[in-house]
Amino acid sequence: MELTARSAYASTAANSRGRRHDEPPPEHRSEFQRDRDRIVHSAAFRRLEYKTQVFVNHEGDMFRTRLTHSIEVAQIARSVARILGVNEVLAETIALAHDLGHTPFGHAGQDALNQCMRDHGGFEHNLQSLRIVDQLEEKYAEFDGLNLTFETREGILKHCSADNARQLGELGERFLKKQQPGLEAQITNIADEIAYNNHDIDDGLRAGLINIEQLCEIQLFREQHETVMATYPSLQRRRAIHEIIRRMINRQVSDLIETTREHLAAAAPQSRNDILDQPAPLAGFSKPMQTMNRELKQFLRNHLYRHYRVHRMTSKARSIIRALFDSFLDDPLLLPPEAQHKAAELEAETGISGRARAVADYIAGMTDRYAIQEYERIFTPAKLT
Ligand code: MG
Repeated sequence: MELTARSAYASTAANSRGRRHDEPPPEHRSEFQRDRDRIVHSAAFRRLEYKTQVFVNHEGDMFRTRLTHSIEVAQIARSVARILGVNEVLAETIALAHDLGHTPFGHAGQDALNQCMRDHGGFEHNLQSLRIVDQLEEKYAEFDGLNLTFETREGILKHCSADNARQLGELGERFLKKQQPGLEAQITNIADEIAYNNHDIDDGLRAGLINIEQLCEIQLFREQHETVMATYPSLQRRRAIHEIIRRMINRQVSDLIETTREHLAAAAPQSRNDILDQPAPLAGFSKPMQTMNRELKQFLRNHLYRHYRVHRMTSKARSIIRALFDSFLDDPLLLPPEAQHKAAELEAETGISGRARAVADYIAGMTDRYAIQEYERIFTPAKLT
């Protein structure tokens, strides 16, 4: 029941490599719709509402959260997948799941947790997303995790070291064989980039950390700024910003569609396997757009992610994660019962690294505000709970 997949190289239920645990096919949905629905009903998905990428959740209600970001990615990925004749439901599914493994406090949290886990196998949000859908969600009677299709799991695992790939069985194979993921995963990957670059500009402007004059240094913004100002010279600032950003997104999406179409025409894949066997991903930007995109990312790194106000926040986030990790690892009795039980279980299997993994799972699952509350409960003498 794949209503939208049209091309011979689209992922379909028929060419799917299936689920880890056999299940009867869904009655009223496609296999990928079932995956999507399981993700939407997961606890990790709900928590995305209170997790952030650049700004901390409590800084304001107007900023993107991981939840709204995932929805924006899904919406871009769906449109592109549909027009390129591949499975838009799978693209949407991967988009909704792609950030499930993120720690609280965005990139700062992930870096801090990775540091903490240095001697215990490290921490990587991509692998954590997979760990959540494969193991950590406890909702179904017959299996741990969500038992998603191979293709959704493949899309979630964007990158992976050779060491980790070897431990992941058939899912890790493509990293060792240097194969590509399906086209739906490739599209979603770029949709993610389009979404966050553009919404970080929007949020950065709203927060007053960057301004329009600075942004006019970069070509992608400047071009659309000139068009909007020439067409609507007296447009109010907020509307002008939205008009510029929506045109930037459109420009990038159009480039992605055109370039990917050219690549598809040249490679002429006849099946999904032909997509996997390509030496490089077929979905991508043109050379000029790659250059403009690099310029945009560079700008955001220099002017937004390293802004002193953002940096103060990330520095604080790092301290919170580090302090929580050290305390829990040192004294698991500080953990709530369920996490304590997990820590004992994993420690029995792999020793101290198992205990550390359970602590990392607990911390990674926290929202920004929950991490702050836990920190206060443990370190602030006045808090007695
Ligand atoms: Mg993302």
